[in-house]
Amino acid sequence: MSNIVTLKYFNSFAMNVCAHSINKVYSEHELLMYWKKATEHDKSVLLLGGGCNVLFLENFNGIVLLNRIKGVLVNEDDSAWYLHVGAGEIWHRLVVYSLSKNMPGLENLALIPGYVGAAPIQNIGAFGVELQQFCEYVDVLQFYNENRIRLNATECQFGYRDSIFKNKLDNQQYAIVAVGLKINKNWYPILRYKSLRSLNVSGITPYQIFNFICKLRQKILPDPAIIGNAGSFFKNPIIDENMFNTLLRYNPDMPYYLQRNGSVKLFAGWLIDRCHLKGYRLGNAAVYNKQALILINCNQRATGMEIIKLASYVRNKVADRFSIWLEPEVRFIAAQGEVDALQLLQ
Ligand SMILES: Cc1cc2nc3c(=O)[nH]c(=O)nc-3n(C[C@H](O)[C@H](O)[C@H](O)COP(=O)(O)OP(=O)(O)OC[C@H]3O[C@@H](n4cnc5c(N)ncnc54)[C@H](O)[C@@H]3O)c2cc1C
Repeated sequence: MSNIVTLKYFNSFAMNVCAHSINKVYSEHELLMYWKKATEHDKSVLLLGGGCNVLFLENFNGIVLLNRIKGVLVNEDDSAWYLHVGAGEIWHRLVVYSLSKNMPGLENLALIPGYVGAAPIQNIGAFGVELQQFCEYVDVLQFYNENRIRLNATECQFGYRDSIFKNKLDNQQYAIVAVGLKINKNWYPILRYKSLRSLNVSGITPYQIFNFICKLRQKILPDPAIIGNAGSFFKNPIIDENMFNTLLRYNPDMPYYLQRNGSVKLFAGWLIDRCHLKGYRLGNAAVYNKQALILINCNQRATGMEIIKLASYVRNKVADRFSIWLEPEVRFIAAQGEVDALQLLQ
């Protein structure tokens, strides 16, 4: 329990912090075993997939479990395919697998880094599609009573980059072990998103969309293997119609996305860019120069606190100009586990 190992290669921000141990876990039995051992030694437990949505602020005083429970089971009926997927499958590989087996639908979610087990947590989404459109259930192992429970989609309380698994459950007490997806057979292309509008709807194939999205992502997003980052640092803010109309009056070129309930989603990257912060650097942390929504670890030397300082600066600038307080999408991890990211940025 006293070993100290580096987490640098297990978080996409490449934060050079340590944990007592890092363990790949291939079964529910192993998960429970490690959790019991940690509890006996009064140590914290942190579940990770690929570490692509976390910011470590300091050394983690406990054990890290990398969920690697594998397996994809496929069933079908006339209208859909039903996939039961182990939490330790890599998300992008699942997208590739589903397309290779002629089960189109997940192509807009290509190249999102990380593992299947984390996908429901923030209801991953990209290019106008979210996991919740496919998710039928999430299987959860509760450590404290060793029960495995199944939450259906309604119980998961999915929202924009949100679910019951974010903030509402104690994340040291459970692990997601499998996810159930339903992919409808009546495939149609989803090209509503601005950057996909150049594609021609008629006759387009799922593979063409997949390839287009992969190329686009590779062009605009930094590769974590080279530049430490966790994707979008902030969520896109959702505001009410009144506020939207006021902002639009002063910013007629402002991009937006109308929501079904009348509210309006703005693009955090555009707001940050308008504050002239693209490429802005504070110590070893910077706003990525090609996409302002991404904060990066310069030369792999930034600390979590440097990223927080930069994020606070960005938030204040956006609030000064637009009266909008951006909320972080990334989860903050301190010595004993997750801490309230919003509170730290204030
Ligand atoms: C370059 C880049 C681009 C990105 N683009 C997108 C995008 O387009 N859309 C999007 O939605 N996200 C995006 N992200 C964010 C990230 O890919 C997703 O949030 C992804 O789901 C994280 O998966 P992970 O396995 O790395 O999770 P981790 O970072 O390992 O974990 C995230 C959180 O979930 C918890 N957790 C992980 N696995 C489990 C489990 N099995 N049981 C219980 N808790 C668990 C962790 O404790 C942590 O709190 C991007 C990230 C990067 C680096």
